[in-house]
Amino acid sequence: MRILVRNAHLVTPPCGGPLRGEDLRDVRSSKTSILCVDGRVEAFGREAEYLADGAEVVDVGGRLVTPALVDPHTHLAFAGERDAELRMKLQGLSYLEILNRGYGIYRTVEHTRSCSVGDLAAIVHERLNTMRSHGTFLVEAKSGYGLDMENEVKILRSYEGLSGVIPTLLAHVVPKGWEEGEYVEYFKRIIDRVRDLGLARFFDVFCDKGAFSVDAARELLLHARNRGFGLKVHAEELERTGATEMAVSLGATSVDHLEVADEEAIDALASSRTIAVLLPTTPLVMLGGPRPRARRMVDEGVAIAIGTDFNPNNWIESLQFVLQYSVYTLRLLPEEALSACTRNAALAVEARDYGCVAEGKACALAVWDVGSLDSLAARIGVNRLYRLISPIEASTSRPKT
Ligand SMILES: [Zn+2]
Repeated sequence: MRILVRNAHLVTPPCGGPLRGEDLRDVRSSKTSILCVDGRVEAFGREAEYLADGAEVVDVGGRLVTPALVDPHTHLAFAGERDAELRMKLQGLSYLEILNRGYGIYRTVEHTRSCSVGDLAAIVHERLNTMRSHGTFLVEAKSGYGLDMENEVKILRSYEGLSGVIPTLLAHVVPKGWEEGEYVEYFKRIIDRVRDLGLARFFDVFCDKGAFSVDAARELLLHARNRGFGLKVHAEELERTGATEMAVSLGATSVDHLEVADEEAIDALASSRTIAVLLPTTPLVMLGGPRPRARRMVDEGVAIAIGTDFNPNNWIESLQFVLQYSVYTLRLLPEEALSACTRNAALAVEARDYGCVAEGKACALAVWDVGSLDSLAARIGVNRLYRLISPIEASTSRPKT
């Protein structure tokens, strides 16, 4: 499959990284043509035109073209919904009170357990389409609403065979009625089983107040690392626990959340290769709470990425929106937000072929219905995607609605 994208205003981060400090702003901007062959970028400019014989030509009329967005943190597969919780939060109910009304995570676990793999796969497929219609191609997708062997495996099976999905086994919470130590031993067997079945590339653990302790999380992470998983940690969202330093010391690929990360945690990240995945809509959906100190992190040299954290309590499929929202609320420059949602996000899931547009890299392009990155960042509330060009279909047409 050959496709020539003509009259593009291409804006892309460089392909190195993780990008940090000034490198996050160092995007390349050019008016050019881009030739893709069999899902890879082959050539640019005059050379692309010269080699384009027989290619499908897509004239984008000077529109902004960026790497397709990469969402490095989602809880994609779950059943049911908990939208009524918003009203409860508005009424001032605490998380515990919401749990006592039969909502919260256990409601999602119950709905998800009652689904077949096929049911879940259909749900996942629909959500992926929505994400793609807003400019995201590559999506990290966690398990975590099964809590037992059978259901964690089932959730990961719902991701099997999907292009552009990177599956992660998540140890989410210690279920009601279990001691932490006892559940850690049980979860190690889930890790082994998932490894034997080849169902996940990463292992992630929610290490925070009300979830796993730092010691328990370390034990699980070491077990997973010994079995070849890349490591991720949900850390420093609710309470400063030291999970960041623990994750960095184990060589974690990413540490995610970090709303309450302090100077020491920021220093630990800045002097490591671990990527800080920020999820800027957490304080939005919680109706308050601290925001990650993104500006400080960038200035201190932390490699930041940005994700949606799509989950039943944060029902946001559009990373395009989160990119814009992070400019407005975290005071990131549009270039920094773009790099965080593309190149660094790709490195946060160890997908080095994605998140930048260069010869030999995956042909995953987002064509936006605006002429500049400033316009993409500024104009919120309407889907600005004009067309996603992905390596699976080589050209997935989606006329703007
Ligand atoms: Zn999460």
